[in-house]
Amino acid sequence: MNLSQKLESKVMQTIKKYKLCNKGEKIIVAVSGGKDSSVTAYLLHKFDYNIELFHINLRIGGYSERCLNAAKELSKLLNVKLHIYDMKKEMGSGMCYLRTAIQTKSGKIKLKNCAICGVIKKWILNKIARELKADKLATGHNLDDEAQTFLMNIFKGSPKLSANTGPITRNLLDKRLKFVPRIKPLFYVAENDVRVYSKEKKLPVVYEKCPCALDSYRIQVRKFVNTLTEKEKQNIMNNFDSLIKRIEKIKDTRIEYCEVCGEPARNKLCKKCELVKT
Ligand code: AMP
Ligand code: ZN
Repeated sequence: MNLSQKLESKVMQTIKKYKLCNKGEKIIVAVSGGKDSSVTAYLLHKFDYNIELFHINLRIGGYSERCLNAAKELSKLLNVKLHIYDMKKEMGSGMCYLRTAIQTKSGKIKLKNCAICGVIKKWILNKIARELKADKLATGHNLDDEAQTFLMNIFKGSPKLSANTGPITRNLLDKRLKFVPRIKPLFYVAENDVRVYSKEKKLPVVYEKCPCALDSYRIQVRKFVNTLTEKEKQNIMNNFDSLIKRIEKIKDTRIEYCEVCGEPARNKLCKKCELVKT
């Protein structure tokens, strides 16, 4: 098997082993315009799943324009519907403005750009996927992303935070059915293999990094991981699977609904409303 066939077979195995989705379901794929989510959409489509694409236009200048164009091209290439959420139209401002407003409020200054953007994006993705009547929401998270998150949670002193990760996240205690189960078909695929695959398939992809992602904690962790030997990196990944299984046993499945927006929340307010409250 060549690299592409290996990658395809790994993703197929992940889908089957963890029962990520089935043919009768409607899957909304969150496409950023980047390689990971484009490959996710490409593969789910190739495997004959029923997908539609969803893109958030974050309005981060020319970068967002290029991402939007890539999402549109992918939609044409696969001949699947693309839903677009324009932050400026829907929320009144783009990500840069909203983020700066949050950061300059007293007490919130320490929050990093990517942390804020991540919370807002997750909120939009769940809300819109539900409105589009999705059975599943697929994202492009890959093995490197997951290993970094896992390490970040350890460095923060809260490995329990990793309990909610895995190739599929669902919440069985969601009485109001507000949480759209999230799936990560590339969970076990290394980032570099995704890059090579996306180039081989000539997918319309924006390879540049988000211009706002300069100060992210994740970037620091990524740099640290890159100083490790190949063997050490491999060890993190080998341990990852078994540790996740153990941590999953102490998973916190408690779910509340935000008092302001009604979206799923851990506390009285969801993370997004906590950020934007004055
Ligand atoms: P990130 O939070 O940038 O690491 O992205 C993680 C995943 O979220 C990506 O693989 C996509 O599936 C999804 N995503 C990120 N940005 C966008 C966007 N602008 N529109 C739609 N989905 C996105
Ligand atoms: Zn809320």
